[in-house]
This record gives sequence, structure tokens and C-alpha cells, in this order.
Amino acid sequence: MNPIKKMSGLITKVTDLSPTAREYVIKPSELMPFTAGSFVNLFVEHSGEKIRRAFSMSSADTNPDEFAITIRLSPNGKLTPLLWAEDYVGREIELMGPLGLNTADKMTASKTFLFGFGVGAGVVKSLAENLGARDNLNSLTIVTGNRSTEEILHKDFFDSLSETNEKVSVKYVVSDNSQTIYPIGHIQDHLTEYDFSNSDVYMCGQGVACDALEKTISSTNPTNCNFFVEDFH
Ligand SMILES: Cc1cc2nc3c(=O)[nH]c(=O)nc-3n(C[C@H](O)[C@H](O)[C@H](O)COP(=O)(O)OP(=O)(O)OC[C@H]3O[C@@H](n4cnc5c(N)ncnc54)[C@H](O)[C@@H]3O)c2cc1C
Repeated sequence: MNPIKKMSGLITKVTDLSPTAREYVIKPSELMPFTAGSFVNLFVEHSGEKIRRAFSMSSADTNPDEFAITIRLSPNGKLTPLLWAEDYVGREIELMGPLGLNTADKMTASKTFLFGFGVGAGVVKSLAENLGARDNLNSLTIVTGNRSTEEILHKDFFDSLSETNEKVSVKYVVSDNSQTIYPIGHIQDHLTEYDFSNSDVYMCGQGVACDALEKTISSTNPTNCNFFVEDFH
């Protein structure tokens, strides 16, 4: 297990991923080994207050020297509007991590499903990179649920992984039904082709979305199906 440490981190790069999501690259002040599926707590000073929020790593767990997080703007939230309002490149923040229980080392099945609702696609990216490189992999199915076509996150990464690894497949589901070439609705509306028996099933997103997905999968009565649920609250 990777030790949990408190340290500072330098924000080295910020990239827009969609109209409401960004990737922040952070260089920790000391090496921070982590396993895909982990998250960090960020502490950001503002007006004399220290705001603490959790963010999952979205980069590969092979580089302890630097990691990325994928953040969605919550327009009425406390921290994310601050991040959007100012240029944070070159700023130091406090970090605590790595944290989390739903990590890749616990997922041992050769058949795995990774489901990401919204910004949950970030941690799915990190997990997909880890699981996709395993010798014992039989199939890795990735499905992300997105509000609109332009909000599909990390699409280039997932497309490239599925094109270069025949064991990996990816599907994007879009809930806004106007003008999309993708399946419409929620992830749980598009599961009929899958057999969840003898598999690990990971899901990440808002609690209500994860609950609905887990219920739908459970209703198919899969045998030997292990759930890993990372719900953002
Ligand atoms: C383990 C974990 C991992 C996470 N990973 C990620 C990640 O990878 N990426 C990511 O973007 N987020 C992630 N989150 C969520 C993240 O920690 C923040 O909660 C999120 O970014 C919003 O922060 P904020 O300060 O902008 O909003 P907050 O101030 O926390 O507010 C969040 C929402 O609640 C609403 N709200 C706030 N106060 C009230 C109130 N009194 N009444 C009604 N509504 C209210 C706001 O309008 C806003 O929409 C994760 C959370 C957890 C627990």
C-alpha cells in the first residue's frame, strides 16, 4: 500500500477538455507513488480559508513524479469557480494522498467493466491504462455517460486504447438527445449486450447514477460479479 503523505504540489499545466472540464497537472514536492483508482485531497487557500476537496488521479500510475486530475466546474460550488476564475499555473497548493479503496490492485478478474459518469471518466482513464496493460486481460469494457457530445471526456485516449488493444472496447452514451451519433440516455439503458458474470465492475460518478447502474446490473443476477463503487458526493 502506498503511504499517505502531506506535501505541497506545483500546478504545472492546465488544459481545457470540454466547455466545463479541465485537466490540471500537478508536480508533488516529493515522489507520490499511487495506484490507479486513487484520489488526492487538495487544500486551496482563499480569503483566509483553506478549502479542501477530493479529486481522483486521471493519469497513469507509472509516474510518481507528476499526476493529472480532471475537474468539472460546479458553477455554484466553492472551489471550482475559483479555479476557473484565475490562472493557477505556477501556484503551490497543499496535497494529501494517495487515498482511496477502489484501486486497480483490488481488481483481479480477467473480465472488467469500467463505467464513468461525467467527470468520472477521468479516473476510468487511469484505471484503463493500468488494466489494459495486463497480461491476463480477456476483456476490458469502458462506457462513459456524458451530458452532451461535446462533454465526452478523454475520447482521444479511449479511442486510441481500443484501436490498439483488441481486448478493449469503448462506448459513449449521451443523455442530451439532440444531434448525437452516440447511444442516447444513461449508461444503464445500454447494457443488454454484456454478461456481468465472473467480472469486476467499477463505476464512478454521482451517487444516484452509481446506485441506478448497480441496481440494473444486479437485476441481471450475475454470478461472481464484484462491484467497486466510487461515488462523488
Ligand atoms: C473521492 C472523491 C473523488 C472526487 N473526484 C473528483 C474528480 O476527479 N473530479 C471532480 O471534478 N470532482 C471530484 N470530486 C468532487 C470534488 O471533490 C468537489 O466536490 C467538486 O469539484 C465540487 O467542488 P466545489 O467546491 O466547486 O463545489 P461545492 O462547494 O462542494 O459544491 C458542490 C455542489 O453542491 C452545491 N451546493 C453547495 N452548497 C449547497 C447547499 N448548501 N445547498 C444546496 N446545494 C449546495 C453547489 O451548488 C455545487 O453544485 C470527488 C469527490 C470525492 C469524494
